[in-house]
Amino acid sequence: RDEALMPFYRQVVDADLFKHQPEIQAIDGMFMLPRPIRFVTAECGEINAFYSDERGEVVLCYETMRVLRERGLELAAQNGIAGADAQTLARRYLDANVRFILLHETGHALITLLEIPVTGREEDAVDQLATTLMLRFAGIDESSATVAENLRMASHWFLLRSTGQYNLDAYADAHALGEQRYFNLQCLLYGSDPARYLDIVTGGDLPEARARSCPEEARRVSSAWLRLLLPHVAPKFQMSEEKAEQLFEERARQRDRNSDAPYIR
Ligand SMILES: [Zn+2]
Repeated sequence: RDEALMPFYRQVVDADLFKHQPEIQAIDGMFMLPRPIRFVTAECGEINAFYSDERGEVVLCYETMRVLRERGLELAAQNGIAGADAQTLARRYLDANVRFILLHETGHALITLLEIPVTGREEDAVDQLATTLMLRFAGIDESSATVAENLRMASHWFLLRSTGQYNLDAYADAHALGEQRYFNLQCLLYGSDPARYLDIVTGGDLPEARARSCPEEARRVSSAWLRLLLPHVAPKFQMSEEKAEQLFEERARQRDRNSDAPYIR
């Protein structure tokens, strides 16, 4: 109904958005769910994305896409990027965040539908799942650098929504504070391959004191989700934890082999 949201409706239709989510495509059909999860975009009247158990749907609001695009353009302007390059960056920012958001909401859906036990904050658990899936199931032609860039754009969005000045409602919220979600994500990314992502620490995006425990934290998060999900895997995908880890490593090698080599180094 809102004309201003029409470009985002068109974008979803033209790009066949859900068919081009590598992680969602990778896990499609993998789990024995009591019912399918539908993915829909909608005009919600607010900036939001959510899993509705009543409808069995992961819903992405066009309003969220619009604000993500605006933030992407702002990020470009801050970095002195203009014209077509700014449009490209904004699109990239939107795509990366949509990817993370859809996986975060898929996490809520899986927890609900599979009755996966969660102690601690569910919001943290599904951020961890989204990060793990983006590290494990990125497109086969996406390099590690692209995957890292996507995750860093997702973490940037956490920071943007933070005001830095919190009231009681923020402290009481089911979500951790934006800054905490930001550092948790940096920690999982760095911890997934400390040698490769060392610049996250040297560049000041993750304090050393936290970074020390991140390799162990990343390993634990990844193997916890693997162990929680494996019992729900459909027969033709069933495998041991060791086998799954081997497949992940093989996939990472393939991704690095397939990714474009830059002409200019
Ligand atoms: Zn959530």
